[in-house]
Amino acid sequence: MLILVINCGSSSVKYQVIDIKENKSLVTGIAERIGIPGSKIKQQLNGGGKFKLEKDLADHKEAIQQIFNLITDKEHGAIGDMSQISAVGHRVVHGGEKFNRAVVIDDEVLKVLESLFDLAPLHNPPNVLGIKTCQALLPHAPQVAVFDTAFHQTLPDYAYTYALPYEYYERLQIRKYGFHGTSHKYVSNRVAEILGKPIGQLKIIVCHLGNGSSITAVDQGKSVDTTMGFTPLAGVPMGTRSGDIDPAIIPFIMKKENFSAAEVSTLLNKQSGVLGISGLSSDFRDLEEAAEKGNQRAILALNTFNYSVKKAIGAFSAAMGGVDVVAFTGGIGENGIDQRRDILQNMSYLGLELDNDKNNCRGKEAIISKEGSKVLAMVVPTNEELMIAKETAELI
Ligand code: AMP
Repeated sequence: MLILVINCGSSSVKYQVIDIKENKSLVTGIAERIGIPGSKIKQQLNGGGKFKLEKDLADHKEAIQQIFNLITDKEHGAIGDMSQISAVGHRVVHGGEKFNRAVVIDDEVLKVLESLFDLAPLHNPPNVLGIKTCQALLPHAPQVAVFDTAFHQTLPDYAYTYALPYEYYERLQIRKYGFHGTSHKYVSNRVAEILGKPIGQLKIIVCHLGNGSSITAVDQGKSVDTTMGFTPLAGVPMGTRSGDIDPAIIPFIMKKENFSAAEVSTLLNKQSGVLGISGLSSDFRDLEEAAEKGNQRAILALNTFNYSVKKAIGAFSAAMGGVDVVAFTGGIGENGIDQRRDILQNMSYLGLELDNDKNNCRGKEAIISKEGSKVLAMVVPTNEELMIAKETAELI
């Protein structure tokens, strides 16, 4: 069974065709700068063949039609005809409280997704656009929505409630939702598979550390707390996002700098995080390089990030009454040897002893704690697309 996975952003569409039986991706690609001069599609076949199409893509419909042409291209494509696609799995960022699992999309579901635009104004509208375009272009294939928030719908009320007047939850749905759910679910399940243990017997802390970062406490396979909140701005500092700050800073800055709500939102989302602290870059490789040369602000940015992740691990072990496995994923979690070392240092109080030799690895599944460490540390590369494809296949 072949599943097409679509992740539709405001000016980009990422895609993969996944063969469910073989558990592997046949082709992966991205259309970029849709509606902006300089649009292109980059595609890579499993096994190496790469192809780049530079062509104006006026809108998402044109981009997705071109993607279908490339997927079925005789020379550069992976399959003969789009009719071979059994279903399309769409990454949808926000499912609010309405969806605690993936759903087959019908008119009713589309209406609910549109009613959630306020909660994720940057993400849900392009997600819905992608769904509608695929419905029009591939009418034979069922469309499935897989939500970033769904895995976190198991959070207990005391974990998702903010200490604001309760009517703000009732009237405006302000609560913690959490994000990266597909990744946290994939990684926690994979940890159980690798260890050969039922997930129902494990307390796992998943550290998804990338451009956006979130940490989740997964107790017996269920998300019980997570660092991101009402939006993906909350939690640990990120590439350009501030993470948690004293909320009183916001009106203070607005007053002092005469900023509008939109301006302060841009400051917190695009100009803060490790970029803001370092004044240098949001990319951890750049920061590591600068830190090695003694750049104090790069060192401070890395220390601030590592310290926040360490604190989240401590908080979530407390929340679960212990932890069996701390798993790292995402670009930094999978590759950041120094980050993992700094985050996990001095954790013997918790029963976690890092093995520096085993930690010297990038981008592959590995146990990186010492033999005999009571709490295991692991690296588990995430695969959100495979998870979306599997959930889609299960539903249809
Ligand atoms: P993601 O959003 O998951 O793609 O992660 C992107 C982040 O991973 C960027 O900050 C990269 O600098 C970081 N990253 C990728 N490779 C490495 C590496 N080898 N060492 C440290 N960070 C890395």
